[in-house]
Amino acid sequence: RPDHDRRPQPASKLTQPVDVALAQGDGIGPEITDAVCRILDAAGARVRFVPVTMGERCYLDGVSSGIPAEAWDVIRKHGVLLKGPITTPQGGGYKSLNVTLRKALGLFANVRPCRAWHPWIETRHPDMDVLIVRENEEDTYAGIEHRQTNEVTQCLKLISSPGSERLIRYAFELARAQGRKRVDCFSKDNIMKLTDGLFHRIFDRVAEEYPDIESGHMIIDIGTALLADRPERFDVIVAPNLYGDIISDVAAQITGSVGLGGSANIGEGIAMFEAVHGSAPDIAGQDLANPSGLLLAAIEMLRYIGDGETANRVFAAWTATLADGLHTADIHRPGHSRERLGTRAFADAVIERL
Ligand code: NAD
Repeated sequence: RPDHDRRPQPASKLTQPVDVALAQGDGIGPEITDAVCRILDAAGARVRFVPVTMGERCYLDGVSSGIPAEAWDVIRKHGVLLKGPITTPQGGGYKSLNVTLRKALGLFANVRPCRAWHPWIETRHPDMDVLIVRENEEDTYAGIEHRQTNEVTQCLKLISSPGSERLIRYAFELARAQGRKRVDCFSKDNIMKLTDGLFHRIFDRVAEEYPDIESGHMIIDIGTALLADRPERFDVIVAPNLYGDIISDVAAQITGSVGLGGSANIGEGIAMFEAVHGSAPDIAGQDLANPSGLLLAAIEMLRYIGDGETANRVFAAWTATLADGLHTADIHRPGHSRERLGTRAFADAVIERL
């Protein structure tokens, strides 16, 4: 495989750099965005980053959405955002800024490629190459949650016909564009007959329009078990929001580390690129984080803006670094890796191989 998504890359026609909003994020966010920006800069990417501030700092300044008005303006104006992970308080406090961004910008599809990087990164599943397409605006993430009594709380699950259809069609189109053979739908419609049932029914209907692509359905629990055990049997998986969130962390971890997962959040004429993982407060500020997830997201961003040449060069330098056994702590395996590098040194190693 020449590349992780198998799409041909046309020569770049960009004459001017493209403006891209850049949010560093919280926790390990500043370290990994710095690493990624240095690599893109050294590679001569045709990008001009426009910094925006969002997240913890803004909450502390009293911006309850975590995103100030100026940041919204910059993101909407340029239509592309590269974002570090953002901390969201658990069990109370502010609403997730990530969910707010996805919903407010209409980023309906969350595309998360998870493949083995064999033989460079040790894995039990060398042939794994799964593309997870997660619905990004609906489901239990729609934020319809309330307290009924002191002892009873409720969260409503929202699944719409147009939302599901748009997402599922996008998954089949992506499968076709990438030469993939099969799309599986995961849902729990044996229990949630109306909501998950609707998603499944629309999947079956859309699948009929793509006779060149095999399709199937699995109940989410057994589907996840099979994904963990035999991920190589899957090609594209499409799922409602919550299931997609969970299975993409499972899948990224199977490839070696959640630190390897990158994602594209796609809307109409607007897109956000980020790592699959969170802000990892347990290792923040220690030069330990793997910047690869955000780097793979940035490579996808370069393709999106039409700078496929630089995307290919950065990708080749990244794989050369892995092939030389230079690994961050999360993917470092004694006897397999050659050297354990910190975030900064890993970025330097990629730059040396550009
Ligand atoms: P996490 O993904 O941040 O971390 C889980 C584990 O993986 C930790 O042990 C961490 O050290 C490790 N890890 C994560 N990324 C890594 C990397 N790049 N390199 C090496 N190790 C890495 O998950 P969490 O601890 O559940 O969440 C922390 C915060 O991140 C929470 O506030 C959560 O809401 C937020 N979060 C944000 C996003 C996002 O911005 N899109 C996504 C998920 C979680």
